[in-house]
Amino acid sequence: MTLGAQMIIRKASAILLRKVEYGDHDVVLTFLTPGEGKISAFAKNAKKSVKRFAGVLELFTSLEVVVRQGKGLPYLEEASIVAPYEAIRSDYLKSAYAGYWAEVTIQWLEEGAPQKRLFALFEAALMALHDALRSPGAVSILFQLLFLDIAGCAPSLTHCSGCGVSMEVLSPGRVPFDLERGGVVCARCRPESRHHMPLSPGTLKQLRWVLREGLDGAFRLRFSPAAEREGLFLLERFLSRHLGREPKSLSFLWKIRSPLPQGAFL
Ligand SMILES: [Zn+2]
Repeated sequence: MTLGAQMIIRKASAILLRKVEYGDHDVVLTFLTPGEGKISAFAKNAKKSVKRFAGVLELFTSLEVVVRQGKGLPYLEEASIVAPYEAIRSDYLKSAYAGYWAEVTIQWLEEGAPQKRLFALFEAALMALHDALRSPGAVSILFQLLFLDIAGCAPSLTHCSGCGVSMEVLSPGRVPFDLERGGVVCARCRPESRHHMPLSPGTLKQLRWVLREGLDGAFRLRFSPAAEREGLFLLERFLSRHLGREPKSLSFLWKIRSPLPQGAFL
């Protein structure tokens, strides 16, 4: 059977992660879907056709899409908005956070594998980012930590990542986090290298809580300003290290965000 003769039509919930213009009229879109993970589709005449996709194909919008699979890249047939999250696109900083999450997701995901948990996480993070009462930085901590958990590389926060001894009970004072080993370390394993970051016990407790609660409970958490600064500082470096490079959108985020006071870490 040849695919050319038989078109397959698929319908999916989808979040638009990336749009790349193709020629004068067309656009290549990358979506996150629960059933097939990352999928790319070609939108013919998307730039020109007001009737078909006007105002629908905006970044970080939650959609219902219909794609038609022929030979090569699928074609987008229909798209309708489920949630526009317009407060994200109208805010420079919020767009930068969502752009960072999208880049990380695109880089990590292979096409075609189901990603129900990641889809639910992305949707919850967009909803919280859209909310005027939530701090975008705090939402980004939740996204990054739960993303790392789904990817199977969450930082070790309860046991020493050098010798494995339990560190559940915290003694007063900051706890060293070793970026190379991927977690907290006990006094014996504490590295002399510049890759260690001292975390306050309060921040560590909040980060542990996020991993313990998972998606269902984590978005109820409100971070203290100190925990937000430390959590962002740690996770943005930790995630870049796992990806093997610093995402371009993260460098952009750092440029437009007011600098995190970092005296306590150095
Ligand atoms: Zn140790």
